[in-house]
Amino acid sequence: MVKGKIYGVALGPGDPDLLTLKALKCLQKADRIYYPGSVSPSGEKNSHSLKIMSPHGLDTDKMQGIFIKMSMDRNQTEELYSQVFQDILEDYRKGLKVVIVSEGDIAFYSTFAYLLERIYCNELDFEMIAGIPAFILAGSVHRFPLALQSDKVAVLAQLNSLEELEKRLKDFETVVIMKLSTVKGEICQFIRENKLDFFYGERLGTDQQYTTTSVEELENRRIPYFSLMIFNKYIHLN
Ligand code: SAH
Repeated sequence: MVKGKIYGVALGPGDPDLLTLKALKCLQKADRIYYPGSVSPSGEKNSHSLKIMSPHGLDTDKMQGIFIKMSMDRNQTEELYSQVFQDILEDYRKGLKVVIVSEGDIAFYSTFAYLLERIYCNELDFEMIAGIPAFILAGSVHRFPLALQSDKVAVLAQLNSLEELEKRLKDFETVVIMKLSTVKGEICQFIRENKLDFFYGERLGTDQQYTTTSVEELENRRIPYFSLMIFNKYIHLN
């Protein structure tokens, strides 16, 4: 049987220059590139991943979007990925080099995980190519250390309560909160009450990048999906 190979390729957080050389070489050699994106309620398609790849002059004929509607629940998303996997399998059986990309790192809260289990179960030949996660870029953007010496770092993929944040801030020198949009209001009040230093960054690495360390600015901002917040004692150094 002819068989291809599958590559899970990390695109980095947003700056097309923060793609690794290994990722770029893999994208250039690919026969097919599957990329994630979203569809708004009005039907508008958007893909952060596609924007990261576009300046690299890749053949658009080999690109295939996986678009998730914002209204989709976990089961519907699973169903969509199950259909996409059938297409991937077909490509693989034709002997194609199939790339599935993900923004940030490929193994860190990545949508690639939806396909990984199916890839394992079918014993397909595959490789994963690491990349820079968004919170790592935040350190360089704001020019501060994310961690030093014996510092411990907690990354919260979502915040369930302010009590949880309070606890993490006691146990870890650096706390990163991702997928921020749901908890913004309460966090701002918490920051004020506890006079905390924080860094907020959205769409890091893109031409729409916005950062602030001011709670007044944050309070008046609509928080997009691609945003994160970091607390630690080095933020005020900048
Ligand atoms: N694989 C990604 C994480 C995907 S989960 C990584 O390694 O970084 C999606 C969350 O990542 C978003 O809700 C946001 O909190 C964060 N994120 C990803 N890209 C970002 C960017 N360019 N700027 C700010 N936050 C980002």
